[in-house]
Amino acid sequence: MPSTPVPLRAAAERLLDAREPVDRPLAEELAALDDADLPELIALAHRVRLAWMGPAVEVESIISAKTGGCPEDCTFCSQSARYTTEVAREPMLPAERLVDLARRTRELGGTEFCIVVAVRGPDERMMRAVIEAAAAIRAEVDIEVAASLGILRPGQAERLAEAGIHRYNHNLEAGPRFFPRICTTHTFEDRLRTCRAVVAAGMELCSGGIFGMGETWEDRLDLAFTLQELGAREIPCNFLNPRPGTPLGGAGLLRPLDALRCVAVYRCVNPAAVLRYAGGREVVLRDLQAYGMLAGANGLIVGNYLTTLGRSAEVDLAMLADLGMPVATAPLTGTHGRPVTAR
Ligand code: SF4
Repeated sequence: MPSTPVPLRAAAERLLDAREPVDRPLAEELAALDDADLPELIALAHRVRLAWMGPAVEVESIISAKTGGCPEDCTFCSQSARYTTEVAREPMLPAERLVDLARRTRELGGTEFCIVVAVRGPDERMMRAVIEAAAAIRAEVDIEVAASLGILRPGQAERLAEAGIHRYNHNLEAGPRFFPRICTTHTFEDRLRTCRAVVAAGMELCSGGIFGMGETWEDRLDLAFTLQELGAREIPCNFLNPRPGTPLGGAGLLRPLDALRCVAVYRCVNPAAVLRYAGGREVVLRDLQAYGMLAGANGLIVGNYLTTLGRSAEVDLAMLADLGMPVATAPLTGTHGRPVTAR
C-alpha cells in the first residue's frame, strides 16, 4: 500500500490541525504532485473546504447588463471591440429587466445576483444606472447584489458600497508576470488598485482568474497568493473556453486533471474563500464537473455565462443534490484566514 506523499501530509497538518493556509513552497510541492496522487490532493481539498467553510454551496447568477464593445484588448475576451467575434453589442439593460432576472435567480435558490458590464470602467451615467438598478432589486427581491464594472476611479467604490453593493467582482485574471501577455491596454497594477479600493470601501472582494491561457504553475501560484494577500472573499475559477475571433481563439483546452488540480491547490492556498466554479467548466471538465465540487469548490455560477452558454441551472442543482451538498440560504461569510467551523 503506497504511503501518503510528504507534501500532502504536511498540507493536512497545516490546514486541518494548525488551521493555517499553505505557504508558497508547500503550494509548489502540491502543484507538482504526480497525477497518481491527484485523488489524494482532491480528497484533502474537500476536507479543507468542509472544515473551513462547511458543506453548503453558494449559488449565484451573473448577468451581462451591457454586452460587447469594450475598448480593452484582453486576448481571451469576445467582448473586446478590437476583435471580430460572434458577440453582438447590446446597450445597458433597463432596471426592470434586471429586477426580473434577479427574481428568477432567487427562485432557483441563488443568493447573489451580479450585474456585469463590458467596459474599461464605469462613467457617471453607468454608475447611476447600476445604483438605480441595485436599489430596485434590493427593494423587490430578497437577494444580495454584486457588481462587476471594471476599473474604478477614486470615490466610485465608496459610492457603490453606499448603494448596498455587497460584493464587487474584479478578476485579476492572471499573475503579474503573465498579465502583460494577455492585456496591453491596462496593467496588472491598475486591476490591483481597484481590488484594494473595493476592500478599503468595505465591499467584499470577488477576484479570480482564468486557467489555461498558456500560464505556468508559477503564474497560477503568483495569482493565488496575491488573492490570499488581498483577502479575496470569493475566487471565481474560470477555465479558458477559446472564443473564435479572439487572439486565444485557437488555444487548446486545459487537461481536465489540471483543471481539478487548479481548484484543489487554490483551496489549500485560500481555505476561507468561496471558490466559485465558473466559466469554461462544461467544455474543459466535461464528465468530471461533479468531481470539481469534491475538489474544494463551494460556489457555483448557474445558468449562462456572459457570452457563452452554461448547462441549465436545474441540471447543476440536481448535481448538488446528488452530491449531498445543500445550497446556501445566504451568501457564505467566513472570516478570511480563520475557519468558520471547528470540526
Ligand atoms: S476589460 Fe473586461 S470586457 Fe473589456 S476586454 Fe477585458 S475582459 Fe473583456
